[in-house]
Amino acid sequence: MITERSKHLFEEAKKFIPGGVNSPVRAFKAVGGDPLFIQRAEGAYVFDEDGNRFIELINSWGPMILGHAHPIIENAVRGAIHDSLSFGAPTEKEVQMAGLITGMVPSVEKVRMVNSGTEATMSAIRVARGFTARNKIIKFDGCYHGHGDSFLIAAGSGAMTMGTPDSPGVTPGTAADTLIAAFNDLESVSRLVAENPEQVAAIIVEPVAGNMGCVLPAEGFLEGLRTICDEAGIVLIFDEVMTGFRLAPGGAQERLDVLPDMTTLGKIIGGGMPVGAYGGKKEIMDFVSPQGPVYQAGTLSGNPIAMAAGLAILQYLRNHNEVYSKIEETTATIVSGYREILKEIGKDYTINSIGSMVSLFFSEAPVTDMNSAKKCDTALFGRYFRGMLEKGVYLAPSQFESLFISTAINQAETDHILSATREVLKSIH
Ligand SMILES: *Cc1c(COP(=O)(O)O)cnc(C)c1O
Repeated sequence: MITERSKHLFEEAKKFIPGGVNSPVRAFKAVGGDPLFIQRAEGAYVFDEDGNRFIELINSWGPMILGHAHPIIENAVRGAIHDSLSFGAPTEKEVQMAGLITGMVPSVEKVRMVNSGTEATMSAIRVARGFTARNKIIKFDGCYHGHGDSFLIAAGSGAMTMGTPDSPGVTPGTAADTLIAAFNDLESVSRLVAENPEQVAAIIVEPVAGNMGCVLPAEGFLEGLRTICDEAGIVLIFDEVMTGFRLAPGGAQERLDVLPDMTTLGKIIGGGMPVGAYGGKKEIMDFVSPQGPVYQAGTLSGNPIAMAAGLAILQYLRNHNEVYSKIEETTATIVSGYREILKEIGKDYTINSIGSMVSLFFSEAPVTDMNSAKKCDTALFGRYFRGMLEKGVYLAPSQFESLFISTAINQAETDHILSATREVLKSIH
């Protein structure tokens, strides 16, 4: 595979952009090799600057659930452009968007639009803190909620329950307000709540984790969080930036039938445009300015072009349930193909999957939380990733990511993904 132009662009990029990329995972550091610079994409395929073609299994980390350059979304954006790109004043599209979101996501009664998932989670915890007049939050090791200071926190060592900064620039003061629990371990949550009476404002969780690879909630885990929050007056926040509109039109909360108090959304909600949102119960959301005292604002929030794209994709998803049956069938075919291949090579690697999310973990032990995810052979994953790329399949460049299946992936692509997986896995074992 010739990647000269990508290599050249990466060298240029590194002169002017930290690490040559505008978001770290794009740099391929976890898998080795240089990143590909993408020129365009269509349906199930992306094309790099050297003209190489790949089957797409990242789909912009989720948003392109209908595949790339879908006419429904492109036409909506084209149609909106003629009316100017931004006003910084209210528009009808925002009203329609709020109506659509509250109609689709079961627990959301009022919603505020923002520009990214990071903004949604940062704002949601501020509102939860304002609403409860408490300072601390609980998050789970391995769950990702964007790059807000409060979330870039690692578990403290030993008996310490306080978090410690996971990045220079995050202050110890901020870290002290974030408590870290283990995913799927209700006991670890109860303990933190008991040790910090009347101090925990919110528990934030990915209802299905996608950022340590795909990790499903154990039976009763989400229900248990709901009970803990009800008993202690804590705001339960589902971070559905990844699962929203993917696992069902109403996200993981609809599919798994557990309702949070607040929900954060991103990725699919913008159809590829920079959009996020946070919402929840009326009495909580009415704490948001200008209705309430908690300040949150945005010059470009509810941007008309972004709303046009978001409206188009959400309306489509609401009206086309066959989207979900199709991507879930494709995913099921990939999962059963994986199982067959693993049998052939005599490996019992863990496959986690729900709906249209799937992760193949290079570990023979179950992956249920960050500690078990860390047991994966990441060097082997790197070889698998590079092998797949050579064969024209673009996987997420890290073991700790989920694949996102789009409706553009048909039988021919599924067959290619599985035959490439078979060849690559055989060659690296
Ligand atoms: C991607 C993601 C975010 C961050 O969203 P950005 O738009 O990248 O800021 C937050 N939470 C979850 C669960 C995500 O997957």
